[in-house]
Amino acid sequence: MTSQRLRNSPIPGTRDSYTGVDFNLGFHIRHYRLDLDYRVEPNRLAGSATLDMVNYLPLKRLTLDLGPSLKVSKITTSGSGAVRVEVARWRHARGKLLLTFDAEIPVDSEFTLSITYSGSPRPVRSPWGTLGWEELENGSLVASQPCGAPSWFPCDDTPDEKARYDIIVSADNPYVVVCNGELVERRRSGSRTSWHYRTEHVMATYLATVQVGQYTEFDAADFDPRLSTPAPSAAPAPVPVSVFLPAGKAPAARVEFADQVEMMRLYTRLFGPYPFARYRVVVTEDDLEIPLEAQGLSIFGSNHVDGRKEQERLIAHELSHQWFGNSLGLAQWNDIWLNEGFACYAEWLWFEHSTRVPAAEPARRHYRVLSRLPKDLLLADPGPTLMFDDRVYKRGALVVHALRCLIDDDAVFFAAIRRYTAANRHSVVEPIDLRTVMSAACTEVGVPVDTLTGLWNSWLHNVALPPFPEPRSRTRSAG
Ligand SMILES: [Zn+2]
Repeated sequence: MTSQRLRNSPIPGTRDSYTGVDFNLGFHIRHYRLDLDYRVEPNRLAGSATLDMVNYLPLKRLTLDLGPSLKVSKITTSGSGAVRVEVARWRHARGKLLLTFDAEIPVDSEFTLSITYSGSPRPVRSPWGTLGWEELENGSLVASQPCGAPSWFPCDDTPDEKARYDIIVSADNPYVVVCNGELVERRRSGSRTSWHYRTEHVMATYLATVQVGQYTEFDAADFDPRLSTPAPSAAPAPVPVSVFLPAGKAPAARVEFADQVEMMRLYTRLFGPYPFARYRVVVTEDDLEIPLEAQGLSIFGSNHVDGRKEQERLIAHELSHQWFGNSLGLAQWNDIWLNEGFACYAEWLWFEHSTRVPAAEPARRHYRVLSRLPKDLLLADPGPTLMFDDRVYKRGALVVHALRCLIDDDAVFFAAIRRYTAANRHSVVEPIDLRTVMSAACTEVGVPVDTLTGLWNSWLHNVALPPFPEPRSRTRSAG
């Protein structure tokens, strides 16, 4: 089932104020089938994108996002029932593919576009530098957040337009291709192998990914000493967890990812069932500036996996995005704190579990740092320049901590979080969705709703830093 509230009426305006990209209005894409042939050495991509669409406005023309390094050679269409859909002409310029139809397509028609294209995929330019498909020393990766998906396929590149995907990539042996979803078929023919992945749930374009490299897959459970036989001391992983490694990385990965399954167990307890059928981690041969999340997987650089266990917080952070960001997507980029605040707080929760250091300690440390930094960031709408500013992450995490302190009952607080993740699973969220479950939790523990309103406004809608949050019981006894 698709979600209850993917965008039906557009966000006001015709342009995403964060990415600066014009919206593609009038239709939803329900399914993408990407049939791609990839040659690693020349970095050459050729294939077709088949888009199943339905329009909520009558359409004489429509636009899609597609980067300038890819060239369209053919577009075919088909309508269902009596609907006749014919493309009269198309134009590809400035990152947009503009299609004009022979005749206006009546509202609520279902139709399919098949776009044949090829080129040497390159990252697209954005306010955050270049994003999307990137060549590696020996393979490639995709890192699209927030607007790099058009670097490798024609799409409606906005976070609230989620769709299902079939991604089929053929590449030379011995390259391994890792995409989102389940591997439904792997077919070897001669010197090449075709990898067919299918998502079981809807996905935002920026989370769609293709990772190509000479990887070997390991079961992360084998890295977990708690699961070693003959007397395992912990329950098995809730879903399969695997790690794709380049040659020579297994000894270091065994150390770095020893707790990956335990993290999964912890987050499943706190945040509710893991939203996907499996979790994969890909470690690239190259170094990467930062790790990144995609739907159902995370990507780390070789530099993050050196056996010194210094990246534990990032391993926890990326996993938690499967709940916060991927299953619960954003309706608009303004609300990025909902992704990053939760992911950052999830790091603190992991250390609370693994080292018994309460989350209040990192919270206080980062609060002190924030108190010394400029107070010019509005968490509810940081703007594109400050979207990935560390203050969004830390202040966002402090909001979660402030809510936990306000409820001051972990059983009630985490039950509210699980209601939030369950109610909005595989959909998009806005701050009001979190506030609604927290409001009910306040009622449960006898906190006046006005107190929640005060907290909400001071942390989200003011730039000043509110006082450090203390548990309600402590403020009561102190007061
Ligand atoms: Zn993050």
